Amino acid sequence: MQCKRLQSLIRDWYQEVRSYTLAPLKMMELVEKHIKACKICQEDQDLSLELDQLRELIRVPHSFPSIEEISSELEEPEYTYEKEEIEEIEEEEY
Ligand SMILES: [Zn+2]
Repeated sequence: MQCKRLQSLIRDWYQEVRSYTLAPLKMMELVEKHIKACKICQEDQDLSLELDQLRELIRVPHSFPSIEEISSELEEPEYTYEKEEIEEIEEEEY
């Protein structure tokens, strides 16, 4: 990364992503916005590779639970409750 401006911007944005005040995808949008307006970044041959590494770094923060974990936490108690209700109704009918 040759552009000093982008280096400091990424450092600032990365801190915001880490403290959950900036979405990772929003950060990449801001990075691309800067590159479009910056001659140094446009001529930087290694930049796209470094941005790929950055994407991997910020897209899935380690302390975030995955979507699967969240949905199973929400669905499991509800499922158990529904199952109990159905069994009660069946007992009354027979
Ligand atoms: Zn730049």
